[in-house]
Amino acid sequence: MRIDVITLFPGMFDVLRENGITRIALERESAGLSCYNPRDFTGDRHRTVDDRPYGGGPGMVMMPEPLDRCIDAVRQANSGPLIYLSPQGETLDQRLVEELAGLPSLVFLCGRYEGVDERILVSRVDREVSIGDYVLAGGELAAMVLIECMLRLLPGVLGSAESATQDSFSAGLLDHPHYTRPEDYRGMRVPGVLLGGNHAEIGRWRLNRSLERTRTRRPDLLERRMLSEVEQQLLTALDTEQNDE
Ligand code: SAM
Repeated sequence: MRIDVITLFPGMFDVLRENGITRIALERESAGLSCYNPRDFTGDRHRTVDDRPYGGGPGMVMMPEPLDRCIDAVRQANSGPLIYLSPQGETLDQRLVEELAGLPSLVFLCGRYEGVDERILVSRVDREVSIGDYVLAGGELAAMVLIECMLRLLPGVLGSAESATQDSFSAGLLDHPHYTRPEDYRGMRVPGVLLGGNHAEIGRWRLNRSLERTRTRRPDLLERRMLSEVEQQLLTALDTEQNDE
């Protein structure tokens, strides 16, 4: 997967290159990550990329010319969809991460200040993505969130191929609880079923805990999901248990 990022702060992306799963993905060349700085596409001595908004008001706006030239340069090497990170975009979720992770190439545009001149959004941007209903100072952290989410899904990047499919949201449920050694930690014991080695029982216990957690914490996920017969039975049993308490 090829990822090109248009950003005034290319150094921020070193965090992805130097740490954890994203470092592994980029070192193994499962993905390539390059940054383009609009300041390198300005024509004046001060390398100006922003100007005051027409109509007045606070803040500055990213000017169209340097961005247009920068996008032209990116387009020499990357014809993938151009995504503007924006609080006004469609909200990122695991379904969208999976869709984007399946593409061979992507371009991200990170805004700063009050955002990008609308004419760039209209003429060059394919899609807008938000990482949630709050406002960041710039699109870089949003792009990094999206890139990390995608890179961990690429084949061979996670230690076990199963681990991404068992995570929260991938099957429409929250993940089950996890335990590691010691067996007894300050009087809190690992549930016995996990020590017994009976994989069918362990699977059933985990599914039960996933359903229970999802119902308590994110009932909206259950409403949207087609439940299997087994899941439906487990939920009914959980309801009965709760009513008996
Ligand atoms: N004036 C804009 C608005 O209210 O919609 C907000 C501009 S914000 C201060 C600067 C930049 O941060 C935006 O252009 C965008 O690239 C990025 N940004 C801020 N919040 C974001 C979010 N929730 N998701 C994705 N990008 C965001």
